[in-house]
Amino acid sequence: MADKQARRIAKFIAPLRVKPGSRVDLERDFDPRYKARMKKRKGTELLRTGVALLAEYQAKLAAQDAYGVLLCLQAIDAGGKDGTIRHVMSGVNPQGVHVSSFKVPSAEELDHDYLWRYAQRLPARGEIAIFNRSHYEEVLVVRVHPENLDRQRLPEEAKGPDVWERRYREINDWERYLCDNGFKVVKIFLNLSNEEQRTRFLKRIDLPEKNWKFSGADVRERARWDDYQRAFSEMISATSTPWAPWYVVPADRKWFARISAAAVLAHTLTEIDPRYPAVGKKARKELRAAKRRLEREAPEGAARDPYAAGREAERGV
Ligand code: AMP
Ligand code: MG
Repeated sequence: MADKQARRIAKFIAPLRVKPGSRVDLERDFDPRYKARMKKRKGTELLRTGVALLAEYQAKLAAQDAYGVLLCLQAIDAGGKDGTIRHVMSGVNPQGVHVSSFKVPSAEELDHDYLWRYAQRLPARGEIAIFNRSHYEEVLVVRVHPENLDRQRLPEEAKGPDVWERRYREINDWERYLCDNGFKVVKIFLNLSNEEQRTRFLKRIDLPEKNWKFSGADVRERARWDDYQRAFSEMISATSTPWAPWYVVPADRKWFARISAAAVLAHTLTEIDPRYPAVGKKARKELRAAKRRLEREAPEGAARDPYAAGREAERGV
């Protein structure tokens, strides 16, 4: 049963995975409106199952305390990162999840190597960390607006024309190091169309309660659409690796983006296959001794083990 479910998830996300080593041209290769011939109603139902599944896996991941998961979310503005996080993680225990949003770097952050601030937000073992924007901004917004690179105060020899190729390699190496040490890196790119971004921006302007989400900078960035698409395509081509492949999730339909993201995360967890730790012989003996002691402490008239008594009553014993 669990195997069948894992296979179904793997099959569902296969078309979204970027084959390591392939050259991606986002516009040519991925359709932001793709929905695997699914109906929205079916999608909503699936999301509910997916969210419950994630909660179950996360509890085991935490109990096992050996692996951590890092989920990186990248998208163009209005791509739906916040909503995806809200929906996909809606069922999990907040203690086991950390979300970090990366904005324009602070003076302190700029004073360190470019991966420094991301390294500080990595998951601990047993945790899922979510990056809302990630170290990939270092080859996206920083590349589209090179004045960001000037602010990073790199020494001359670190700023040459090969800086982007070098960053791809460094990021791949860093992710490999994390994976080899038990921290799985999952990367999702929410792929939005130009027309859907226009629609979502207008909605943010038209609805007063959405106004706060919109800024003049958003339309200025939109004017650089082609540059961003090129930077996304290059980044995905260079950094989809066997240990941390990219998943390009169609984002024009929010409901489909959400089940896809849930499925990608669930797939990683099925691969880790975390288990509740088995209790050894010695620990079991200790449990039995503790049980006897607690039972002896039962006050007059109380059941020796109220929990066991309750279960027996439920079963009608
Ligand atoms: P938002 O996610 O809409 O709150 O916006 C965060 C802003 O921070 C975006 O405009 C990003 O382009 C910007 N940002 C994120 N990371 C970096 C970075 N490493 N360097 C420069 N700007 C960044
Ligand atoms: Mg924004």
